Amino acid sequence: MPAPRHDEFETRLGLSFRDRFVRELPGDPSIENVPRQVKGAAWSPVLPTKVAAPKVLLHSREVADELGLSESVMRSPEMAEVLSGNRMLRGMRPYAACYGGHQFGSWAGQLGDGRAITLGEIATPSGKIQEIQLKGAGPTPYSRRADGRAVLRSSVREMLCSEAMHHLGVPTTRALALTATGESVVRDMLYDGNPKAEPGAVVARVAPSFVRFGNFELPTARKDEELLRALTAHVMKHHYPELVKAGDPTSPDSVAAFLIEVAERTARMIAEWMRVGFVHGVMNTDNMSILGLTIDYGPYGWLEGYDPGWTPNTTDAQGRRYRYGAQPSIGAWNVARLADALAPLLPEGAGDQAMKAYGTTWEERELRMYAEKLGLRAVHLPEEGEGGPSDMPLLEGLFGLFGKAEIDMPLFYRALADVPTHEPLAPEAWANVAGEVLGHTFYDTEVERVLRPTVGAWLSTYAARVREDGRDPEERRASMRRANPKYVLRNWLAQKAIDLAEAGDTSELEALLEVLRRPYDDQPGREAYAQKRPEWARHKAGCSMLSCSS
Ligand code: AMP
Ligand code: MG
Repeated sequence: MPAPRHDEFETRLGLSFRDRFVRELPGDPSIENVPRQVKGAAWSPVLPTKVAAPKVLLHSREVADELGLSESVMRSPEMAEVLSGNRMLRGMRPYAACYGGHQFGSWAGQLGDGRAITLGEIATPSGKIQEIQLKGAGPTPYSRRADGRAVLRSSVREMLCSEAMHHLGVPTTRALALTATGESVVRDMLYDGNPKAEPGAVVARVAPSFVRFGNFELPTARKDEELLRALTAHVMKHHYPELVKAGDPTSPDSVAAFLIEVAERTARMIAEWMRVGFVHGVMNTDNMSILGLTIDYGPYGWLEGYDPGWTPNTTDAQGRRYRYGAQPSIGAWNVARLADALAPLLPEGAGDQAMKAYGTTWEERELRMYAEKLGLRAVHLPEEGEGGPSDMPLLEGLFGLFGKAEIDMPLFYRALADVPTHEPLAPEAWANVAGEVLGHTFYDTEVERVLRPTVGAWLSTYAARVREDGRDPEERRASMRRANPKYVLRNWLAQKAIDLAEAGDTSELEALLEVLRRPYDDQPGREAYAQKRPEWARHKAGCSMLSCSS
């Protein structure tokens, strides 16, 4: 008798699934897929809900490669069935994780994977283990009153941004594929009483783990130390084995080392966000990865005009808790919540130590970031009483400029590399350089013209500082270009690709993903992707305004 067809496909796939999370951690005994409180369990078994007509719209060839999935497999109809959740493979034990979290500063209780379903973990050809999760795969016991689905626009945004961030060198979860479901989903995009049917989609995301701070917070809030300990042991064993002291992953020393490591990784991740101008938009503790990865791409945005007060998230417009400039301090606040969650396992003083580690790491990375962005060997900001030369006036001058006009952050730093710092110019001549080299980075040409002498004066100080730094000019320029991307996922670029995709044309998704694969290279012919926000996008939904509705 011939082997059944599914076996042929599975053999061709060659994936071997693991189930460490479900095997090692207590699960929900109920298999009923209805919203409920799940106690004493780290996960609930749940199957994706089938969709009508799955079609893969876009995939990441790097992620496919890493998982050992060939181009022809990725393009096969069978794979579309797998990536939409319609088809289970041998070894998969799908589940939704149980977690809680602080949302906008308040404890929110149980949240959990309301629309994300992990299919399983796979061992990659290079020997790593990666979890595959479908976002938008249907309701789970954690869906509360929502539908477990995701719309195409938010799925495009998650897919493109995960990959853009990876190529920028920012720690992030990855996206394997974006699959249209062939079904519609109703959303009130701006929460203004205008619900509308939109195309639905599923993103297959990939990471070594999707565990969040909130996975630790919930058992502690429920005084379930047994579950807290089991989860900690699991995460330590598989993701931080080097931190396990004396063979005991939940000893006070081990857990203290773990907390410090997560604090430092979080600070480093946020420093990278600040460098590239990324604003996450919803830094709730359920959206903070225990591995220090950027996770849960929702109403995020990219700084175009530099404004530390900017947030893309209209749901947060009142308090602007998650604005660009607040991200480093919110990261600290979130780490403090993780410290609270781990407190039952920690030695005295470990929380304070972790907060200190966060602060030290952030400050060190912040200085390094400005040095890299400005092309200096180092930036010096001596503490009070320390003496020595300070770069504070230089930085204050720069932020002063940013405060006087709307200046495109990516374009400005990118162009700064081209400033002829070693030419002996008269002070007045720097105003001309300002106009020629940086003029295009201003949103208002009239304002630019008026400010030219001010920008010139700053440039003259900057050039003197660069000369004093003594670096080879070409080396400085090259290093600045490695720190200051030319191509980022500008909000309007994503929106343009989304509008086309909603109309059935996915070519712009491909084009954009392609550009974002090499964000630091000049890509001749693709200048249109490195332009400041066009006027039409200034107040358009999706470009300047995003809500949590996704
Ligand atoms: P977020 O802030 O988008 O990361 O989501 C917060 C919580 O809401 C998480 O528990 C999500 O799983 C859940 N959630 C968001 N959107 C949906 C949806 N469409 N269906 C079910 N749960 C959702
Ligand atoms: Mg989330």
